[in-house]
Amino acid sequence: MLKSLSNAVGVSGYEDEVAELIKSEMEKYADEVEIDKMGNVIGLKRGKGKGKIMLAAHMDEIGFVVSHIDKNGFIFISPVGGINVKTLISRRVIVHGNERYYGIMGSVPPHIKEKEEKELSIEDIFVDIGAKDREEVLKKGIKVGSIITYDGDLKKLSGRRYTSKTMDDRIGVFVLMETLKKAKSSYDIYFVATVQEEVGLRGAKTSGYKISPDIGIAVDVTLANDIPEVKEHKRITELGKGPAITIMDRSVIGNKRLNSFIEKIAQEENIPLQRNILSRGGTDAGTIHLTKEGVISTTLSIPTRFVHSTVECVDMNDVENAVKLLVKVLEKLDSFAVYQEKKTYSTYGRSRKQSYE
Ligand SMILES: [Zn+2]
Repeated sequence: MLKSLSNAVGVSGYEDEVAELIKSEMEKYADEVEIDKMGNVIGLKRGKGKGKIMLAAHMDEIGFVVSHIDKNGFIFISPVGGINVKTLISRRVIVHGNERYYGIMGSVPPHIKEKEEKELSIEDIFVDIGAKDREEVLKKGIKVGSIITYDGDLKKLSGRRYTSKTMDDRIGVFVLMETLKKAKSSYDIYFVATVQEEVGLRGAKTSGYKISPDIGIAVDVTLANDIPEVKEHKRITELGKGPAITIMDRSVIGNKRLNSFIEKIAQEENIPLQRNILSRGGTDAGTIHLTKEGVISTTLSIPTRFVHSTVECVDMNDVENAVKLLVKVLEKLDSFAVYQEKKTYSTYGRSRKQSYE
């Protein structure tokens, strides 16, 4: 399942292929599944009507659109989502026209130093599909706006570690699928594979509005910078040490009561859990928590090396522990108070109870 999920195509705004795959898989386990107007896949597993919880993982991936084709058949590109230009040189990509065509991201060989070495920009990158001229490219149904994805199929590395072009965030979708199979809760659980997260958390905004949940948990990747040269205090998370709960990123401050609730369960169940603080980037929780009058939200992340490259890498132990933890959280949700009951106090001689969150 992870292989077909991560190999499927789904650049932001063009998620149809991966959406169909997710929908057909969700239909096996959910009570209801729909694809909404924006393209989000929403699977509902009914509880006992205690409340609504939304679990969101984005199914879109970063990629490119064709911005120009020159007369010699070279294709110029515009990025969709946060692309690190340094990771592009010598990449194999797939250009989507009438069929799928392999392309390579070229650069000027070091033997020809025409330009002094300067900061590489996306405008310098071109894709060569092997065509002789522009006509040959156009005949293949490739035009301005055609999408381009990385060629980076899922591969197994040593131990239980895997790499692919789209761990961000198909690994999150995978966690949702596995959780859906086992989940039992008094809450109605909405499993949402969102669109257009990479361009600004857009699918979560509309699906969050539609569902209007009491609680929201985004499942996404976070940085595992446990690699050479990176100092200990900049590692954020480490592979194999459990999923990570978000204390804070650029989009959300993880709800402190929900975080403690999750951490308590992790402790009781002996599930390793890390704490995630990111000064850059955000997740779907960033829009979910601002839905209507507000939603208690946080993010559960899978530590990932080399995020936003073609070789994103995760440890399956973290993935399994994320599923285990989510299943337990859903099961015990009854004991989580959405509205916090404040102690009785006296105002103007009258005693009153106030509940707020
Ligand atoms: Zn992501």
